[in-house]
Amino acid sequence: MMESVCVYCGSNPGFDPAFRAAAVSLGTEIGRRGMRLVYGGSHLGMMGVLADAVLASGGKVTGVMPALLVEKEAAHRGLTDLRTVHSMHERKLLMADLAEGFVSLPGGYGTLDETFEIATWSQLGLHAKPVVLWNVSGFYDPLFTFLDGIVSAGLLRPQHRALVRRASSLEEVFARLAEPVEAGGGKWLPGDLR
Ligand code: AMP
Repeated sequence: MMESVCVYCGSNPGFDPAFRAAAVSLGTEIGRRGMRLVYGGSHLGMMGVLADAVLASGGKVTGVMPALLVEKEAAHRGLTDLRTVHSMHERKLLMADLAEGFVSLPGGYGTLDETFEIATWSQLGLHAKPVVLWNVSGFYDPLFTFLDGIVSAGLLRPQHRALVRRASSLEEVFARLAEPVEAGGGKWLPGDLR
């Protein structure tokens, strides 16, 4: 059973109350399962809601933040473990190393950046950990359509497209996390798309 999960999500709460509710239910379930949350360490938006829910249900939370953001007092002060790093790149690497799987809730540029970087590392065979997008309120529907379009355009292999898994409910998030990852990476060569 997985012991730690990294969650990427908005540093804003968003307008749809379902986003906040999803962050609460995911955090509560992570704590209930006795897992550790690894995340960006902020108290802002869905990130703060998520961390609070994990802590409230008895789970452990590791936040990973660049020193600059800690100084700006964006850090969540109640965390079990706050790691300070030097850069956003170092932070993404440490978050990836500390977690056994990745879940993305709705978010903006930061969330998309983190999701696609971790998917790219999987494509390249740098890790074999599951990557799951929780499609709260259909938020990621246009993104899934776009990813399928990338496959149709011959720029993404279907087996690599499958590395980004879709979940529509909390139960599905944990079901997708539990499925083994095809060793899809490592064999990719530019131009070798068919
Ligand atoms: P965004 O989706 O653009 O709101 O960015 C949120 C994602 O990027 C989170 O998963 C964080 O890891 C990271 N991030 C962006 N802004 C912050 C912030 N102010 N404090 C901590 N992490 C942030």
